[in-house]
Amino acid sequence: MALKPGSTIGILGGGQLGRMMAQSAAQLGFSVIGYAPPGDNVAAEVCIDFFENGWGDKAALAAFASKCDVITWEFENVPLSVIDALPSNLVVPGRRALEVAQDRLNEKSFVCELGAICAPYARVDSDEELTRAVDTIGAPGILKTARDGYDGKGQWRIASAYEAEGVRFPGRTCIYEGFVDFAAEFSVILVRGTNGEVRFWDSTANVHEGGMLAVSTLPAGEVIEAQVQEAREIARQTANALGYVGVLTLEFFATANGPIFNEMAPRVHNSGHWTIEGAATSQFENHIRAVAGLPLGGTATRFAHIEMRNIVGEDALSAHQILAKEGEPHLHLYGKREAREGRKMGHVTRVSNRAL
Ligand code: AMP
Repeated sequence: MALKPGSTIGILGGGQLGRMMAQSAAQLGFSVIGYAPPGDNVAAEVCIDFFENGWGDKAALAAFASKCDVITWEFENVPLSVIDALPSNLVVPGRRALEVAQDRLNEKSFVCELGAICAPYARVDSDEELTRAVDTIGAPGILKTARDGYDGKGQWRIASAYEAEGVRFPGRTCIYEGFVDFAAEFSVILVRGTNGEVRFWDSTANVHEGGMLAVSTLPAGEVIEAQVQEAREIARQTANALGYVGVLTLEFFATANGPIFNEMAPRVHNSGHWTIEGAATSQFENHIRAVAGLPLGGTATRFAHIEMRNIVGEDALSAHQILAKEGEPHLHLYGKREAREGRKMGHVTRVSNRAL
């Protein structure tokens, strides 16, 4: 059943994704209440109420849930114990999606069983297993913590077997992956409604710097365009297999052997920020529509050329200067109080029917 205007949507997590989701929810006549541990919770500014409590605070979670008509998340590392403490009928996209996506080993086996191709990988729980994985899979490769890594954090590149000898097992379950010789990177972002309908946004070409997304552009180029359809089918099957409702993202490498699945995010994604100005309906609005049981909006791209660039670290302090530039740049600042190095502070999107 669709939520009525005036209903309340709860969001777990307090970052910029929650902030932009809350802005879309407000536009549709919903109130948003957030929940996250104490910190720089920039979503709080656009929520009518915000619980700054630990993930283990059962009483606070119960109080939060009692005020919500539906609960979603903007952050995939919400502990499963939190989901279990909430009424399961309120939680969308659903526990299973979090369980799979929180662990790189789980998500790779889940999506590969559906037919996706992954880089060769192995689970690593000790120094000996790391040596064995490098021997079997070869180098170069990347050692990644299986859980809690993001934006290139919790990752170590290993250029050769010799170099691997100097890398210590970090004490937490890891995955060692063969390095993929990719031509480009892209993501498939879809929204799935309560009725099972799936819609896709166009895939941008994503350029990462230091393991973190820097720029997304459309058109994505021939190499990516030739592989999007295959990647979409994998993403669709993943969403169907999870009984997913909301926005789901799968990241791929475009290679000479077709799309190679890298990871999934059971949420709106940085590479979809361009959809605010560039698509008929943004990823944020469609996520809210989906979890509220409303009809989904169109996902068509509205401009021939689009570029979304992240604003990272200290650059945010001078970001208003971007507004004086030609080409109507759209500036989004997330309201973060501290501009630390490597921290996403905002983004700027440019859209045009002429080349940018
Ligand atoms: P991830 O956190 O897995 O998304 O990794 C962040 C970025 O590191 C990716 O977007 C790639 O640019 C790079 N990367 C991660 N895994 C691999 C790999 N197996 N081969 C080549 N590049 C990778």
